[in-house]
Amino acid sequence: MKISELLQLLNKLAPQGLATSWDNVGLQVGLPDWQADNILLTLDVTQSVVDYAIKNKYNLIISHHPFIFRPINSVTRPDILALAKHNIAVIAMHTNLDVVPEGVNYALAEVLGLKITGRLSDETGSTWYHGSVMVPPLYIDKLAEAIHIAGAGRIGLYDRCSTRHDITGTFRALEGSSPFIGKQGKFEKVDEIELEFMVDSFNLTAVKKAIADNHPYETPAVYFTVVENTNPAYGLGLIGELDIGMKLTAFAEYVKYKLKAPYVQLWTADKGKTSEVKTIAICGGAGGSLIHKATGKADVFVTGDINYHAMLESKIPLINAGHFYTEYPILNKLNIMLKEQNIETSVYPLKKHEINNNLLI
Ligand SMILES: [Zn+2]
Ligand SMILES: [Zn+2]
Repeated sequence: MKISELLQLLNKLAPQGLATSWDNVGLQVGLPDWQADNILLTLDVTQSVVDYAIKNKYNLIISHHPFIFRPINSVTRPDILALAKHNIAVIAMHTNLDVVPEGVNYALAEVLGLKITGRLSDETGSTWYHGSVMVPPLYIDKLAEAIHIAGAGRIGLYDRCSTRHDITGTFRALEGSSPFIGKQGKFEKVDEIELEFMVDSFNLTAVKKAIADNHPYETPAVYFTVVENTNPAYGLGLIGELDIGMKLTAFAEYVKYKLKAPYVQLWTADKGKTSEVKTIAICGGAGGSLIHKATGKADVFVTGDINYHAMLESKIPLINAGHFYTEYPILNKLNIMLKEQNIETSVYPLKKHEINNNLLI
């Protein structure tokens, strides 16, 4: 498979347009027509990962954290040069993979045995648009189908969502036009349907093209308006339920065991070590900024990278299980998903990976 084809596949899982504006995702080393037959999945592209990829003849690394994050003025980094020399490409799937339904937090919820009930935050890098197009009744189904295929009409866990109203459209075709209905210079009143739908910014170009390709009019009346809210399909962090409630300390032990973490840090927020927990908020990676979103909605919040003061101020019990261990589960999930597509993949082994990231002495 070519990298360009693989990127299309990965974009279905985690559209690059969902990444936040400060992020850097997508193809970072290599060319779209390079082959991707043997893929290594990792959270980070460290020098050890580069050496491992060269030694084991991988031709693509998919990393959660961007390999190239800050802009660079020259290509003198030995790790970049080594990868380029061996024709090993790098793709980053970062905040786009954090916010999708089958992404980082979904994998974490699965490992922790949670039944997902909601999201913590609607934050993504995408803008949501309301679209509206006027169509003659005979063409409505064909046009609606085309824009749905192009990605419009997805709202949360529903797709093909639209609103249709019978309307009367008016127009007068001016000189030089080729009207589909009526004659030049004549004021027309026609039956039309207004098709309304929602579309995420990363599908907007495809939807505009679908309208241009499938609408019978020379100049369709079509409007897009940015809305204030975001698509509930995407967002950071999840809330889920345990089958059976546990004592807070027992749950902390359970998290440590399930994530294979060397330790976890528990902040009880004065709730008592034996308080019962059943509704769990989670955010893989650095979730400190979501503590306020989890407060009042869950019995405990599991994340990584919580700083001292954020912890002290938290009114919800916290389990700090580490950035690395709360995100590692997505690699196994990606591995399974890609193997189902007959793509040769493997995960950079936990023991090799964690030594680079968490040298505990
Ligand atoms: Zn992440
Ligand atoms: Zn991360």
